[in-house]
Amino acid sequence: MTDRIDKIPNGQRYIVLWDKIVYDGWEVAVSYENLELYLTKWFSYENLELYLTKWFSYENLEEDYPLKYNVVNRGDEISIQLMHTFHSLIQRFGLTQDEENPDIVLSIGGDGTLLHAFHRYKEQLDHIAFVGIHTGRLGFFADWKPDEVELLAQLMGESAQQDDLRVVKYPLVEIQITTQNGIETELALNEFTLKGVDATLVAELHINDELLETFRGDGICISTPSGSTAYNKSLGGAIVHPSLDAIQIAEIASINNRVYRTLGSPILLPKHHHCDIYPRASQNIILSLDHVYMQRNDVLSIRSMVAAGKKVKFARFRPFPFWSRVREAFIGYDML
Ligand code: NAD
Repeated sequence: MTDRIDKIPNGQRYIVLWDKIVYDGWEVAVSYENLELYLTKWFSYENLELYLTKWFSYENLEEDYPLKYNVVNRGDEISIQLMHTFHSLIQRFGLTQDEENPDIVLSIGGDGTLLHAFHRYKEQLDHIAFVGIHTGRLGFFADWKPDEVELLAQLMGESAQQDDLRVVKYPLVEIQITTQNGIETELALNEFTLKGVDATLVAELHINDELLETFRGDGICISTPSGSTAYNKSLGGAIVHPSLDAIQIAEIASINNRVYRTLGSPILLPKHHHCDIYPRASQNIILSLDHVYMQRNDVLSIRSMVAAGKKVKFARFRPFPFWSRVREAFIGYDML
């Protein structure tokens, strides 16, 4: 489709859907996916920038941007029923379902369902926002009630039409598992844990390349701020606001006596710091990333740190501050 810039009506929002535009006789091909520009004829760079500035400032809603969504559900009857309800409600707003490349992923079930959704789409975190409905008790991530599905569809549809999707971004923990065969990189939304399988875990714990302690006990849990309310909380770790780019190391039943000694307190590492765990050679260990468990005996070391340049996005269609979420999940005033 081609058009001249002077034919673009002024005064409305304009969404980029063209792949070729003619301006003053010169053709400019535009790839709207990555907003790269290719000149099919000579065009001075200054003019091009000027042109782009003008172009993006147009407020013209000629065609709706087709926001894509997908639903991940727990598989129980209530969650499946809610999913069908949501599909029919959201169609009114022109959102299309896309399982491979969604912009919004709605999880229906519990926090565990959202963890599944996160791991399914963890390669696409740069453009996906998550939102969760809980079909059991109030979840920490799944904070919409089943009877609010209509309201959620309406708010999602309206924000898509107004191109005003608000998100909060939370830090993640990245782990790098070193074996003889190289380094594997993984992400967790809640936490990474390391435990012994058939014996006490024995491991050296280094922070920023210096030995902190030799750990003996059940295991070590390294959580994100949003995961600090999950396993970490049961271990006596602190609840950390997700605006802090940090990870928390908490011990799982460490042995402390006259022979063996660990710090005993949970510790917070800021971003750019890292923690290396060296399990004693050829120990059978279990690693977990959120709900995903793997038994290994080939691990030489595991480095944990705040994931650089990667965050999880949650779509916010109404305010629900972190501390209100903490209060409602743990203290119990259900104010929704
Ligand atoms: P699950 O079915 O055993 O549920 C664990 C519970 O943790 C659920 O009540 C869930 O709502 C809650 N939860 C999950 N993420 C949370 C968060 N960020 N904040 C507050 N509560 C949260 O297991 P699942 O549903 O597959 O979830 C896996 C998670 O379970 C793990 O990531 C871990 O955090 C948690 N877990 C906790 C313990 C413990 O507290 N002792 C032990 C193992 C795993």
